Amino acid sequence: MRFSIKLKFSLFLALLLTLALSVLSFLVLRGVERNQTAQTEIYLAQHVKTVNLRVKQTYYTGVRLEPQAFLQQRGGTLAAELAGFTGLEVTLYDAGGAQAGTSVQEGAAPGRAPDMSAALAYALDGKIAYQRADRSLLYLAPLQGPDAQMGVVQLRYPLEREQSFQRTLLKLFLTTGAAVLVLSFLIGYLYFYRAAAAISRLKTAAESIRRAKYITAPPVKRRDELGELADGIFYMSREIERSISAKDEEQRKLQLAVTKLQALEQQQKQYIGNISHEFKTPLTAIKAYVDLLDMYDDDPELLRDAKQNIAKETERLYQMVEKVLQLTALEKYDFESRAERLEVAEALQDVCGRMRGKAERFGLTVTLEAEPAHIWMDPESFMHVFVNLLDNAIKYNAPGGTIRLRCESAEDEVRITVSDSGIGIPAEARDKIFEPFYTVNPDRSRQSGGTGLGLPLVRNLVEKHNGTITLLETEQKGSVFLLIFPSI
Ligand code: ADP
Repeated sequence: MRFSIKLKFSLFLALLLTLALSVLSFLVLRGVERNQTAQTEIYLAQHVKTVNLRVKQTYYTGVRLEPQAFLQQRGGTLAAELAGFTGLEVTLYDAGGAQAGTSVQEGAAPGRAPDMSAALAYALDGKIAYQRADRSLLYLAPLQGPDAQMGVVQLRYPLEREQSFQRTLLKLFLTTGAAVLVLSFLIGYLYFYRAAAAISRLKTAAESIRRAKYITAPPVKRRDELGELADGIFYMSREIERSISAKDEEQRKLQLAVTKLQALEQQQKQYIGNISHEFKTPLTAIKAYVDLLDMYDDDPELLRDAKQNIAKETERLYQMVEKVLQLTALEKYDFESRAERLEVAEALQDVCGRMRGKAERFGLTVTLEAEPAHIWMDPESFMHVFVNLLDNAIKYNAPGGTIRLRCESAEDEVRITVSDSGIGIPAEARDKIFEPFYTVNPDRSRQSGGTGLGLPLVRNLVEKHNGTITLLETEQKGSVFLLIFPSI
């Protein structure tokens, strides 16, 4: 069975107080009894003196007899007379131990008479003897004769008064004891209630920490050891929570790093596979023309055709090598940024100036609306980004189409959009266009000299300058790219 701590404490306190009271009562009762005995002895000794005086007086005033005969003859009357003086029952014994007279009426003594022989022998030897009988004390003292001890006088002292006083005292102690027991239990229970409640709250807090539910404040506020323990538990809870969340965070980061590493490995494998494939294609075409020229070097048509195609494929190879090198440099963190405070409208004007000729060749119009804005960027990277985007807007456009460039300056960012009225990008390709070598339509890309490396390069450059690039979902025809840079 489980007892609560407040019950145990209260019981302990009640028992402790009751024990203290019992010891105190015992000592008081013993003290009272001793005191009463001493008082009784003094009282009886005085009466014995009176008895001796009276017996002597009677002996000397009457006819001179032997003490033995005197007692036998006058003992009865003397005893009755002395009982009158002292107010006690008196019995006289002669020197031989025989009863010489008593004030007790025949048949009046209640109960069985005690055996007095031992006490009598003691008193006959000149000493005081006591004997308890029923509810009284028999006090035996030597009775002095003219020369020596004449006999013994026995006084019966009733103890009822003392005994009743002791009984009253005992009753008082018992009732006080019971009251103290109940009261101290109640007071103890109330007193320990708060402490026990605090302990119970500490227990609950420890339990919840065990179940990984950490506490947000000390469970108890007190200015004692329990309060200090509560602070300790709170501190411990916070430390455990902190170290566990740090461990979880580490684990999460590790998992993230592992996933990233795996993805990177996969990406790299694919990248290398793509590079080999993309490089092989123009090289195969060049090699085929070289072989054909080897065989038919006098065919002027083949010669013209070969010159044209070899030049096209070489240009494509050149473009690819350049972009691959740029991308690799960016990814290996070898990128050396020469960032500076760039006036966006001016830089966009510059890009448009460069690309307008090409656009017009394809029958396209380029427009620019730019609010004044400044960003922190390497001008060469800025040029790369927008040349690539405008190049795509030209490549994937239709004759008579438009290309729009807009720059808006918001509170702390600069938003640049590049929109075209071209063929657009299907929704399923939206996330893939930023992956290296991805092309929505490989044939069209190839025809236009595309490599699938333009947008990955653009995204890398933008991100290196703390910017973002997204392809917006639009209702209108064509594609809209949104670039956001922190403004300065
Ligand atoms: P590419 O050299 O093939 O243009 P990019 O990385 O620049 O490579 O673009 C990836 C692919 O995204 C392109 O092949 C093309 O299919 C698609 N694309 C990019 N820009 C546009 C655009 N403005 N309009 C339509 N399709 C686009």
